[in-house]
Amino acid sequence: MMKGFEYLQEELDQMTEQGTFRKLVPLESDQGSKVVINGKEVIQLSSNNYLGLTTHPRLVKAALEAVEKFGAGTGSVRTIAGTFTMHEQLEEKLAKFKHTEASLVFQSGFTTNQGVLSAILSPEDVVISDALNHASIIDGIRLTKAARKVYKHVDMKDLERALKESGEYRKRLIVTDGVFSMDGNIAPLDKIVELAEQYDALVMVDDAHASGVLGENGRGTVNHFGLDGRVHIQVGTLSKAIGVLGGYVASSRSLIDYLIHKGRPFLFSTSHPPAVTAACDEAIQVLLEEPELIEKLWDNAKFFKDGLVKLGYDTGESQTPVTPVIVGDEALSHKFSDKLLEYGVFAQGIAFPTVAKGMARVRTIVTAQHSKEELQEALDIFEKAGKELGIIS
Ligand code: PMP
Repeated sequence: MMKGFEYLQEELDQMTEQGTFRKLVPLESDQGSKVVINGKEVIQLSSNNYLGLTTHPRLVKAALEAVEKFGAGTGSVRTIAGTFTMHEQLEEKLAKFKHTEASLVFQSGFTTNQGVLSAILSPEDVVISDALNHASIIDGIRLTKAARKVYKHVDMKDLERALKESGEYRKRLIVTDGVFSMDGNIAPLDKIVELAEQYDALVMVDDAHASGVLGENGRGTVNHFGLDGRVHIQVGTLSKAIGVLGGYVASSRSLIDYLIHKGRPFLFSTSHPPAVTAACDEAIQVLLEEPELIEKLWDNAKFFKDGLVKLGYDTGESQTPVTPVIVGDEALSHKFSDKLLEYGVFAQGIAFPTVAKGMARVRTIVTAQHSKEELQEALDIFEKAGKELGIIS
């Protein structure tokens, strides 16, 4: 073995001892309501494939046709030779969908947050961030020299305190997840916008888990709260409900033009291949034309959440299809997840640093693709596994 990484191995050994070392779980099938793991078909409750679009025939067809016509890759970053007409067509469609002047697609939701925050904030600005914001927001903030303030999770009094304390900066930017990815609660965007307007701050919302889920045809939290035109920056991902890959920012033309010049992941990383772009474009069309998918998603989410609560599980503050089953202890949550898998449900354990210490959980996301029978079977397995481990009685 090559020498040099003993210090990393030591830490890994500790994780193994504590029961928090995790192996990746390869799927041997496509992504759907059921997947094949280790040769066995199990119910999938861990994906972000909210609407089942990863395998939607219209997306698959669009991707295949794009490959045939435009090839497998683009061969350049967007700003040199890698912008195809389809990239701009998708951005126009996303802007229209989000009711904004313009939009810009990045390689992922992660790089969108990183790229936007690092580009628009300078030392004379302050960013005010919810304590439970996604890692990509935190990393984006780390890349700036702006002053930073963190307010207690969805605590509007604390947000107001932070706003009051930051009057001297050129710009104040409030940033929040629209739906919090590990808890499934919705940010109080209406109240955030009111405070922002009162204190003359900008608002940025990351709708990774709200696009395709909340609002008319899945337009996200801004539309859900009736705040069109009052939120300055909307980030979305194309990797979750949209079923493909990528992220985007929807905003005013000036912000988008600025990001084309200063958004580093946009500038320095190759553009999406034709299959990705064409499939994303088709996905937006599906959202507009098949709203019944979103209805089914919410119907399934309610059925499954109610079932978990009836069994006596703690599902925290969840208001959306993201439903955590909070068990607290990190090793126990992984053991719980292993047992669920053994009995036929794939629901990953999530522990520190993704969630706070002592708040470990199995996180579930139902999709529009699940049948009621599959969800009932999953609930029966949750009952059996939870009782065996003493999580419920
Ligand atoms: N923001 C939030 C709130 C997320 O949950 C995620 C996905 N984990 C991202 C951004 C990143 O999106 P992507 O997977 O497209 O990089």
